[in-house]
This record gives sequence, structure tokens and C-alpha cells, in this order.
Amino acid sequence: MASDRKSLVAGGAGFIGSHLCERLLAEGGLVVCIDDFSTGSHENVAHLIGNPRFRLIEGDVTNPITEPADEIFNLASPASPLHYQRDPIRTMRVNVVGAMTLLDHAQACACPIFQASTSEVYGDPLTHPQTESDWGNVNPIGPRACYDEGKRAAEALCFDYHRMYGVDVRVARIFNTYGPRMDSADGRAIINFIGQALAGAPITIYGDGSQTRSFCFVDDMIDGVVAMMRRGPEARGPLNLGTTTEISINEIAELVIRLTGSSSKIVREPAAVDDPKRRRPDISLASRLLSWVPGTSLEDGLIKTIDHARLWANRAG
Ligand code: NAD
Ligand code: UDP
Repeated sequence: MASDRKSLVAGGAGFIGSHLCERLLAEGGLVVCIDDFSTGSHENVAHLIGNPRFRLIEGDVTNPITEPADEIFNLASPASPLHYQRDPIRTMRVNVVGAMTLLDHAQACACPIFQASTSEVYGDPLTHPQTESDWGNVNPIGPRACYDEGKRAAEALCFDYHRMYGVDVRVARIFNTYGPRMDSADGRAIINFIGQALAGAPITIYGDGSQTRSFCFVDDMIDGVVAMMRRGPEARGPLNLGTTTEISINEIAELVIRLTGSSSKIVREPAAVDDPKRRRPDISLASRLLSWVPGTSLEDGLIKTIDHARLWANRAG
């Protein structure tokens, strides 16, 4: 029963985590959010404080956890290249030690655990679109390695804990996700472009802008994450979660300029090191297992994200 279920959300004060907490509360469950606020914010969960079914613990998931749980979601990790490269050793630590701590805790609680993995495990992919059988093309010593290899190690740990101790794991490879409450300073393309467009500042495109991504609206992502947990061990994964609408960075910049009515001009900056050139998930496995397809159009999702960014910018100003 949802009303008796206690969900532990590690990284629950982040962008995706705060939407997940909200959804789990709407289902009627109890939610305990653990976050060290390294990239998340109190503002993201301010609207949940005071809800008697919600509890916030300020803490680092690399330290032992004692809070009993019926299910665990591990989203604790910086996610944007700017954030995860700021302190790469810390990024590796949360992804490896943090994942182990939470897996130990799942074993102790005999409860399922969801691991937020990433499309970055495919690196600069050699196949297109990416299926779960692609083992990845990752530079193990480059500036993205702390995140890519950290997430790959976390996947390995999930499957080892499952094989050795029978831990009921779910591994999702999350593709680029956007929406309200993205950190305006985290440097990711969509939120950077929106911030720049609203300020009338130059839109920074790294490289020639022909690189592609497939951007999934956060509500659709949360549908997939929750469906995966509820589906049971058949949805162990790894499963790709994301949208199949692929767009170039040039096109997304133009779209943001149009939707904000901005007069911003595009400026070119050097391409990011080891930047993946094309990215689009094959989601047939997840669609079949979870009866799930992301339904929000890019334009509708962007309008909601822009409205929210305007609101928070006005509040701050
Ligand atoms: P985010 O940075 O907004 O959220 C991550 C949260 O984890 C933050 O609140 C941060 O404070 C917290 N955290 C980090 N280290 C911690 C630690 N040691 N102890 C406790 N809390 C800690 O990022 P997001 O975009 O919401 O991403 C959430 C998860 O989804 C991450 O694991 C990320 O790797 C994964 N993911 C996100 C995307 C995306 O496009 N947003 C894509 C692929 C995977
Ligand atoms: N990007 C860009 N300008 C920006 C921010 C990002 O051109 O202001 C590019 C970035 O180099 C990458 C793509 O947009 O090619 C997506 O970047 P993001 O950081 O959003 O996601 P990720 O690289 O993790 O997929």
C-alpha cells in the first residue's frame, strides 16, 4: 500500500530528485530525502517542508545510513559536466562509495533499490541509437571519466550485489532530462540557453553545434523511474529512459530564442573535451516492460521550463 510505503530518496533535493519526492508524496507514501546540498538546494524542496509525510535529512550518502526504508532511490551525484568536473574525486566517491553504502542499506532493509545511471555510460557512442547492449566508448582517463566511470562502477556494483546477495536492483540509464528547477548555474545547455536568452546575453554554443542530444521532460522521466520501481524485478535493467526526439544543439538554441522572444545572438566557443557527438536512446525495452512512452513535446516542455526560470529569476531579483 502506497500509504505505508517509506521511500528513501538520496539526492532528493536535486532537480530530478525533488520531482521524484513530489510524485511519491502524491502517491500517498512517506518520503525521506537525504541530501548534502552540494548541488541541490533547499529551494527545490521548500514546498514539501511542513508536509507530515516528508522528512529531510541533511547528510552525505558516503556515510553509513540507518534510516529504515521500504524502497531506495539513489540519485545522489552531481549531473552536469560543470558540477561533476569541479571536484572529480568527490564525484567518483559519491558514485562508488555512495552507491555501495546505499546497496548495503538496501540489503539490510531487504528492500528494492533504484540506481540512477546515465547515457554517459555509452561515452561517445559507436552505435546509434543506443541500445542497452552497447558496452560503451568511454575515455577512462579524460575529464568526464569521474562521472562516466563512476556510474559504470555503480552499475557493476548493483549487479554484483544482486548476484552475491540477491539485492533487488533497478538500473536506469537516464538520458538528458530538463524541466523546472534545473539549477540555473549548472551549465547544461537548455538551462544555460534559457538564462542567456532571458537576459538578452549571447547564447554560447560549444563547438559547431551539430552535436545532438534527446531531451526528455522531467515529468515523463519521473513516470519512467516510478514505473520501473513498481514493475518489480523484471525491470532490473539496465533500461534506457529518455525521449527519442533527437535535436542538434544549434536547433535547440534557435528554439529557445524563438520561444523566449529573445534578441540574443549566438556565439561559438571551443567544443567540450570528449563531448559525445550523437545521442539518442532506443527505449523499446523500457516501453515494452513499463508500458511507458514520454509524451511531452519539446516545445511544451520548454515553455514550462522557461516560465519557471522566469518566475525564479524574478523572485531572486
Ligand atoms: P542534481 O545535481 O540536481 O541532483 C543531485 C543531488 O544529489 C543534489 O541534490 C546533490 O546535492 C545530491 N548529492 C550529491 N552528492 C551527494 C552526497 N554525497 N550525499 C548526498 N547527496 C548528494 O542532478 P539531477 O539532474 O537531478 O540528477 C539526479 C541523478 O540523475 C544523478 O544521479 C544523475 O547522475 C542522474 N542523471 C541525470 C541526468 C539529467 O539529465 N539530469 C541524466 C542522466 C543521469
Ligand atoms: N553546450 C553548449 N553550450 C552551453 C552548454 C552546453 O553548446 O552553454 C553543449 C555541450 O558541449 C554538449 C551539449 O550542449 O555538446 C549538451 O550539454 P549538456 O551539458 O546539457 O549535457 P551533456 O553534455 O551532459 O549531455
